[in-house]
This record gives sequence, structure tokens and C-alpha cells, in this order.
Amino acid sequence: MAKALKFGGTSMANAQSIMRVRDIILGDRDAEYVVVSAPGKREKTDTKVTDLLIRLHGETNSRGRREVMDVIAARFREIESGLGLSLDLSSDLEEIFRRTEEGASYDYVVSRGEYLAAKVLAALIGYKFVDAADIIKFRGGTLDAEETQRLASEALDKAGRAVVPGFYGSDENGRIKAFSRGGSDVSGAIVARAVHASVYENWTDVNGFMVVDPRIVKNPEIIRMVTYRELRELSYMGASVLHPEAVFPVNLAGIPINIRNTFAPEEKGTMIVNYEDLLCGKYERKGSVITGIAGKKDFVGIFIEKQMMNNEIGFCKTLLDVLYDHKISLEHMPTGIDTVTLVIDPTDDEVLAEAIADIKDKCDPTTIEMSKGLALIAVVGHGMSRVKGTASRVCGALSDADVNIRMIDQGSSEMNIIVAVENADYEKAIAALYREFVH
Ligand code: ASP
Repeated sequence: MAKALKFGGTSMANAQSIMRVRDIILGDRDAEYVVVSAPGKREKTDTKVTDLLIRLHGETNSRGRREVMDVIAARFREIESGLGLSLDLSSDLEEIFRRTEEGASYDYVVSRGEYLAAKVLAALIGYKFVDAADIIKFRGGTLDAEETQRLASEALDKAGRAVVPGFYGSDENGRIKAFSRGGSDVSGAIVARAVHASVYENWTDVNGFMVVDPRIVKNPEIIRMVTYRELRELSYMGASVLHPEAVFPVNLAGIPINIRNTFAPEEKGTMIVNYEDLLCGKYERKGSVITGIAGKKDFVGIFIEKQMMNNEIGFCKTLLDVLYDHKISLEHMPTGIDTVTLVIDPTDDEVLAEAIADIKDKCDPTTIEMSKGLALIAVVGHGMSRVKGTASRVCGALSDADVNIRMIDQGSSEMNIIVAVENADYEKAIAALYREFVH
């Protein structure tokens, strides 16, 4: 059954890495549909082609534009000659320059890295080039998922093995429209859904999702399998490898995503699967009760107390109305009998002060206190559902590490426990939880 593969910027960075991409594709008979990013960084200090194109669009005079265009052209020529291709991209490069000179849109200019990269790869592996502008459609500024599905299925089915540039499509007037940065992940998901792929392989430069942030725990374990729901929890808390919108199209179609490493293809990577498929035994998952730990610093807590709050109908509604009026998004709301805490994302001090004044005015609390500098940590995993003792282990590990828990919250789905600690305890707390649940 056909697979859809997406290769990121580091995989497409130079001729050497593109040779790896070729070997991966040609080594797998099922690798029928490929989506590519623009060439990314060859080393840490290098500039991504997309960033060069952004600069190209921002240049205010012809001379400046010519200089940047020369750098972009040199990168593609180096790739072409390194691959031994005689594709001759000169006319494409000249057209991009000419249209930029004529005031082409930002979206058109920044999308050209993907366009050229896809042409190069298609020529190298003998696949058909299918322009994303013909199959990914936007309407009123947002993706027209159904029209895209229809056009992409039809065109890709007809093309057979094909390479599609990531990151863009076109609008109702045929003008190029780009996704937000990192959007080739979304294009890959769209292609996977359109061709009913057996799997969406997302090839990058890491071995998969890590159980915990490697800046806090050195060389943490890789998550072998994660469900879409767990991933949502972990990425909400800041763990990110994929563009957030990339998950939806494939999740909808029940297609698993496999995060792979172009530079270590022997590694199996991370599989992202539907929880239902895990439950019915389609996939087997061994190991710990938790799948991952993620967190974010700098939340604000507003602690509110009011005598007999418990009996006052509409108290919480009024509180939430105040947040709504001040456009403050609520993250968590743990409650006691006569207390409630609002955990919110950091917002402007002025907005915060106005909201607190409004709460005092409308809710008449006995006490209202604000504390800044709270870190939220989510311990996530379906494995903890119906298993006794997970919360106790979380609390025990934090207590042993001398970390005070300011708040604790367990979702009714029993797949996450969220604790709030002081910012200063954040790293220590995460390391302690990793030790408790992983090693
Ligand atoms: N090249 C684009 C970027 O750098 C899109 C992508 O790589 O996904 O954001």
C-alpha cells in the first residue's frame, strides 16, 4: 500500500543529504508520494533557503534583490551539480527574479524554495513533479480541505509516483498561498490523506519525539508510540516536532504518522497512532505508564476565595465572563469548596490589573491574590488510566526532590496529571518525574 513521505529542510539541505533521501525512497517500493521542504541549514550558522527568500522579498532595490538571488541560485546550482543532474534551473530562477522585481507577493516568493527542491528531487528519482498550486486549495484565506482532497486524490492517482512541493497551495484566484512556517508538514498530511496512504512518514533530523525535553534531561528516551490525543497534550505544553495543523488531516483519516530520521534510517522513530487502534490491539505498546512529560513556565495564578462560594449560583460564570471580556484565555481552573484558582497564560500587566479590578467589583471575593511565575508540568499517558498510584508517584517524586506542588489537576480522561510548581523548581521537577517514571 502506498506511503506518503515528507522530507524536511535538513534532509534537503545539500546534495549529500538529498542522496540519502533518494536512497530512502528508492529503497522502499511503497514510497510512492513525496513532499519536500526547501533546503534548510547545512550547518548551525547557515541560512535556510526560505529565510533567504523572505529576505529577497524584503529587499527594497534591484541591486539588493540581485545579490540575494545570486546566493539562492548558487545554492541550487551546487545541489544540482553535486547530484550530477543537468536539469538547468536557470529559467525558473530567472522567472522568480523577474516576478519578484515586478512586485510578486510574499507568499509566491517564499514558496519558491519548495518548488525548486521538488523539481530537483523529481528529476533525480524519476518521479512526476506535481505542483502544489494545482492540488492544494485555499478559500477565503483558509484551507479548503474538501476541494483539496478531491483535486489532490485525482491528480496524484493519475500521476502515480510523484513529488509535491510542501508549504503552499493556491487561492480561488489561482494566486500562490503559503502555510505558516513549517507548513510542509501540513502538505505532507494532506497528500497522505489524499492517497489513502498506509502511513505518513515524516523524515526529519531527530530519532523521534523525546519523552522529555533534552535540554533538561540528557539523552532522554525516544517515545516509540504516542496516540494523537497524547501528542495533543504534549505539544500544547510545548513539545514540538510537527506543525500543529499537520495532525488533523491524517488523524481524521486514521493514518498513522511515523517520525523518522533521514540521517539514521535504521531507527524506527516515533509512531503516532489513533487511541482506538491501540485499544483494539492493532498496535502493541510496551513500557511505562506514562508516555511523555512536558511543561511550560511563566503562567499566572489568580487565587480567589469567597465565603459560601459553594452555594452561590453563577459565581464561576461571572468569573469566566470577566476573563472573556478582557480576552484572557483560561488554561486551568482547579476549585476548592470556597476557593477557585484561575491559571492563565501571561498577559499584559495592565489587562491583568483591569481584570482583577473587575473580578473584585463583580464577584466581591473575600480574598484575591495573584502569583506570577508558575510552571505547569503535564505527565501524560493513556497507560495511567485505571492504574492505581500514578498521582501518588508524581507527588512522591516531587516531594523527594524537595519541590512544592502549588496545584494539581487530573483530567477525567485519566490520561494526564498536571502540576503547577514555582518556575525555579521547573527543571528539578521534570528531572525527578523522568527518574520516577522512566529511569
Ligand atoms: N520551508 C518552510 C519553512 O522553513 C516550510 C517548511 O520547511 O516546512 O518554514
